[in-house]
Amino acid sequence: MDRPQPDVVPGRLTAAEIERNFRDLHPPLSKSEALIAADRCYFCYAAPCTTACPTGIDIPRFIQSIRSGDIEGAARTILSENVMGGMCARVCPTEVLCEQACVRNAHEEKPVDIGLLQRYATDPVFESGQQLFERAQPTGKRVAVVGGGPAALSCAHRLACLGHEVTVYCRDAKLGGLNEFGIAAYKTVDDFAQREVAWILSIGGIEVRTGVALGGELSLAQLCCGHDAVFLAVGLAGVNALGLESENLPGVVDAVEYIAGLRQARDKSQLPVGRRVVVIGGGMTAIDIAVQSRRLGAEDVTIVYRRGQEHMGASRFEQELAQGSGVRIRHWARPVRLVGKEHVTRVEFEYTRIDPDGRLEGTGESFALQADIVFKAIGQEIDWDELGAASRVLRVSNGRIGVDAHRKTSLDNVWAGGDCVAGGQDLTVTAVQDGKIAAQAIDRYLRSGG
Ligand SMILES: Cc1cc2nc3c(=O)[nH]c(=O)nc-3n(C[C@H](O)[C@H](O)[C@H](O)COP(=O)(O)OP(=O)(O)OC[C@H]3O[C@@H](n4cnc5c(N)ncnc54)[C@H](O)[C@@H]3O)c2cc1C
Ligand code: SF4
Repeated sequence: MDRPQPDVVPGRLTAAEIERNFRDLHPPLSKSEALIAADRCYFCYAAPCTTACPTGIDIPRFIQSIRSGDIEGAARTILSENVMGGMCARVCPTEVLCEQACVRNAHEEKPVDIGLLQRYATDPVFESGQQLFERAQPTGKRVAVVGGGPAALSCAHRLACLGHEVTVYCRDAKLGGLNEFGIAAYKTVDDFAQREVAWILSIGGIEVRTGVALGGELSLAQLCCGHDAVFLAVGLAGVNALGLESENLPGVVDAVEYIAGLRQARDKSQLPVGRRVVVIGGGMTAIDIAVQSRRLGAEDVTIVYRRGQEHMGASRFEQELAQGSGVRIRHWARPVRLVGKEHVTRVEFEYTRIDPDGRLEGTGESFALQADIVFKAIGQEIDWDELGAASRVLRVSNGRIGVDAHRKTSLDNVWAGGDCVAGGQDLTVTAVQDGKIAAQAIDRYLRSGG
């Protein structure tokens, strides 16, 4: 039987319980733990962990620095390749990147704790605000960076180091992008995203204008006229639709929007939480909204994904984190009907399978789940409408901005990177790398007379 009233209320748990539930997922290592972890490294030649790191951090080198007590040197090695090495130490899916490649896996089925060691090395920099880099002589060149997330900030920092004058134009009131508004709260505690932004900006040479949007207050033509080069890093502002009738029913909620509210909430116990929560999707966002719903006090949380476990975008570690938090994951089913009059109360699903041609098809069998809240977490897309005229002049590839290997768009003096470009992995670390590659390409262009 459907309940007449949805059970969505704040205060399912006390503030103290919520604080406990949202503690640091991976607490930092103590000095002795770090030394023991560092001792496990073989300091491999042509280290596979470094090859697997999208930003190419020299991992054995920074671990060696930790061993010899040179924590600042370790931080310098990390941050010179990845200026968001502090955030990436917290949020990178290391289990499918550097730690998966670590040769220790073959011997002991346990990699060196690279992520935790990276955090150990970089935390002191953000605690003290110590500046590790110097700006080159001013070049007199001006670059516009559009966006405030990892790709934009990485590009801005590298350009500023190279002596260019940068202006960051960001739609949100705060910089950080999804580091500030998207990443699960238990991965980045104590306002780390803003401390990292402040440290990045402390290099100097970066002017920030928040609350201004490309396609709104700004046009691409204006930016190209007023600057020597432009870097676009606007992320993915649009949300994929389920394509069902009643998708606008109250209680059917965009997971990313809810998470943004959660990340900004001063008191999480005041957030409305459903008793029975259904999440549709199979990626990191689906896991994050499911786990955070449980940690806010939802009783019954189920993720439903249309394909098998091995097809999920979320890593095995993330899936286990969800299951360990009491989230049920059901595979091979897709939603076919959202039921409810004034508020969603139930979702009907059809089982799925792969047909002989490799396509997903419904089996005709169905089941239903009662729901007070249904979270849509089936991916995001560029909001082309929001970008105004820019959307008509940029080459599009697979629904995103088309770029070459140097992150150059089809326009002469415009580069792009991060989630908004085609071919990426939609991770913080790959966005940082895009910003770095684009900054280096922009620098070459500006020095060659552009
Ligand atoms: C819920 C969720 C959880 C995630 N968890 C992880 C994780 O644990 N680990 C991980 O590695 N990755 C994770 N990701 C992915 C990661 O956050 C992104 O890949 C990364 O933030 C992309 O960086 P970006 O700079 O391209 O875009 P974003 O971080 O999305 O930043 C885009 C920026 O552009 C600005 N902007 C947008 N439109 C305009 C405009 N028209 N004009 C001006 N400014 C504009 C926005 O204000 C924002 O500052 C997660 C993503 C989501 C949605
Ligand atoms: S692969 Fe593992 S053992 Fe080898 S250098 Fe990297 S972290 Fe050290």
